[in-house]
Amino acid sequence: MNFVGENILSVSQFSRSDIDHLFLVAEKMIPFANREKVTRVLEGAILGNMFFEPSTRTRVSFGCAWNLLGGEVRETTEIKASSLSKGESFYDTARVLSGYSDVIVMRHEQEGSVSEFAEASRVPVVNGGDGANEHPSQALLDLYTIRQEMKSQRKQVDGLRIALIGDLRHGRAVHSLCKLLTLYENIHFTLISPRDLGLPQKYIAEIKARGHAADEMEDLTSGIANADIIYMTRTQEERFSSQEQANRYRGLLRLNQSIYTEFCQPNTVIMHPLPRDSRGEAQELDEDLNENPNLAIFRQTDNGVVIRMALFALILNVADQIEASSRDVNWYTQGRFDG
Ligand code: ASP
Repeated sequence: MNFVGENILSVSQFSRSDIDHLFLVAEKMIPFANREKVTRVLEGAILGNMFFEPSTRTRVSFGCAWNLLGGEVRETTEIKASSLSKGESFYDTARVLSGYSDVIVMRHEQEGSVSEFAEASRVPVVNGGDGANEHPSQALLDLYTIRQEMKSQRKQVDGLRIALIGDLRHGRAVHSLCKLLTLYENIHFTLISPRDLGLPQKYIAEIKARGHAADEMEDLTSGIANADIIYMTRTQEERFSSQEQANRYRGLLRLNQSIYTEFCQPNTVIMHPLPRDSRGEAQELDEDLNENPNLAIFRQTDNGVVIRMALFALILNVADQIEASSRDVNWYTQGRFDG
């Protein structure tokens, strides 16, 4: 993959060497994310940050990543605040917005919507999540985090044992992560979900076709015993036909400190794409895990910034200019990067 001028629509575009390249560039972004250095390498460039579905992390971290490279951000949130609600097509929307932007990040509830949009766009488009289909930048930051966490335990991604838990049917972060992990060697996937919310067969087929193991089960405690990584997810309530349907799964799979202590290996890393659902009976990832040093959820979110900076820098072909154009920050700052 060349990156320059390319759309990022699916993790299927990446090879292992593309990922290595991206991660090397991401590491160079740490002094900027940590507010030690500033660069204006994207001065004058505009990001169209188009989020037609709710988002906190993805929208804000894409915007921050662009700002940290020196560019300006314009954004739309919600369909009702855009002319899509007046019946405008993706084609027209893309033609218009690509006249105003240098890169567009788009999220929409419809599977395939971002690809359709990208076909009409005159600038590169990054998929910020298309329905239950894919969320490539999330999977890339997750993989980067997995690699870092494993490195600190002197392990590699090859040979990883990962337990993916929750609504695996609708979780686009899980879909992209499973596909990406198949690029590595000898991954053991334990897929824990209520029966109706299992990982779709096409992903399981891809996992197996590439020689990895996949066990499906409904019981949390037996599935997490040998995992290096537990990847928890929330029930994607917005993908169900009614709230009543979604409520049937609320609180069925929950991880808390006492389950962790009783059933997990001492160094098992806990991840979640976030948001975790902290309401009432949901709480798939209990807040009593907040002080657990193996809880990597906020390292994931910090890593999101450097991964997204690296994507932009590669797409706009400025990765090699960043060091030369950087200087130390001139305001009071505390290091904050925790990736
Ligand atoms: N933030 C992730 C997504 O947009 C995960 C989630 O919403 O549960 O897919």
